Amino acid sequence: MNFSLSMEQKILRESVRNFAEAEIRPVARQLDETESFSYEITRAMAGLGLFGVFVSEEFGGQELDYLSYAIAVEELARVDASQAATVAAANSLGIGPIYYFGSDAQKRKYLPKLCSGETLWGFGLTEPDAGSDAGACRTRAVLDHDSWILSGSKIFITNASTDISAGVTVMAVTGERDDGHKELSCLLVETGTPGYTAQPMHGKMMWRASNTSTLYFDDCRIPKENLLGTRGKGFQQMLATLDGGRLSIGAMGLGGAQGGYEMALKYAQERRQFGRPISGFQVNAFKLADMALEIDCARLLLYRACWLRDQNLPFTKEAAMAKLHCSEVMGRVVNQAVQLHGGYGLMKEYDIERFYRDQKLLEIGEGTSEILRLIIARLVGAFA
Ligand SMILES: Cc1cc2nc3c(=O)[nH]c(=O)nc-3n(C[C@H](O)[C@H](O)[C@H](O)COP(=O)(O)OP(=O)(O)OC[C@H]3O[C@@H](n4cnc5c(N)ncnc54)[C@H](O)[C@@H]3O)c2cc1C
Repeated sequence: MNFSLSMEQKILRESVRNFAEAEIRPVARQLDETESFSYEITRAMAGLGLFGVFVSEEFGGQELDYLSYAIAVEELARVDASQAATVAAANSLGIGPIYYFGSDAQKRKYLPKLCSGETLWGFGLTEPDAGSDAGACRTRAVLDHDSWILSGSKIFITNASTDISAGVTVMAVTGERDDGHKELSCLLVETGTPGYTAQPMHGKMMWRASNTSTLYFDDCRIPKENLLGTRGKGFQQMLATLDGGRLSIGAMGLGGAQGGYEMALKYAQERRQFGRPISGFQVNAFKLADMALEIDCARLLLYRACWLRDQNLPFTKEAAMAKLHCSEVMGRVVNQAVQLHGGYGLMKEYDIERFYRDQKLLEIGEGTSEILRLIIARLVGAFA
């Protein structure tokens, strides 16, 4: 086993870290407070090559491995979850389905601009009445000559209603299978399609500088050739997309935990009570030791899952474990980090307050912790 990163991966980590410290940290709190999606930071992250990380150069990507992608997301999340979310959703959920399942023509049409960060693309799976149970999808598309007529709605869709959102991949019911179950397929819906509206959602507790949208499809006419891959394979495409996406959510948990831990350590070394730094009280020193231990375990778990994916080996269970564990480790770390900050940790002047809020989504998005435990339980044969 080789635990060391390649020179390219080390350089990538350093450049994303330097960028996040210099360009994101100074504005993250204000963007959070004003719920502002930053086009400037998005452009700068694109300049760093953070869109299309795993896409081949032929389509405008960086052609790096998944571990590199996870490292980039981890470093963004170490400083700010919202910017990490923009990048993770753009790569895993926006670019991923088109890259892995799209036709050559679709890839040539959409990927270059998505990989340059000129445009963003959403992933429309969740509906008001179909969250964890995504198969309960009610959005429907009916074939009418050369077009699909799409109607329905989606909720909580990341990156779908910015000024640079070029479209969204939508899972819809396209018929009935021979066994009587729904036939589910994915369609590429471009922004500007008559009848398609994407509205930003406001008032989020977390990821407040990331774009989240409600989508409405009112008899939208979608060209037949905008079907993604094979008709009837929509559910499998979405599941495969979520496997990869979970690695990036795991990276967000890992990076957020790392950032929270560093804040806690620094604060505990500087804050003095009873005549000495609070880190010197054994109860607090042990908290910091546990944080360091849990983060190290989480990193090994996540990198192993990325490695499996990079070797084209099965990684569904390991990705679910990594996402579940990294997000819960971040939960425990930021909780103790706020505790170490005392009253100051509850104030917006301290970034740990934002980290505490931002963590919660990681236990809900791309498979709640309960659903991930179900997936793992199924894969270890618990229900056999
Ligand atoms: C900021 C944000 C961004 C998002 N981005 C996207 C996106 O880009 N694209 C997209 O498609 N979706 C997106 N989502 C949606 C997200 O994936 C869903 O919120 C998530 O899948 C959970 O669905 P739900 O909210 O409907 O909760 P529900 O499915 O209603 O779950 C509610 C509770 O019930 C539990 N539960 C449900 N079923 C079971 C079961 N069988 N056993 C045990 N417990 C169960 C859940 O674990 C949870 O605790 C986003 C959400 C947010 C908040």
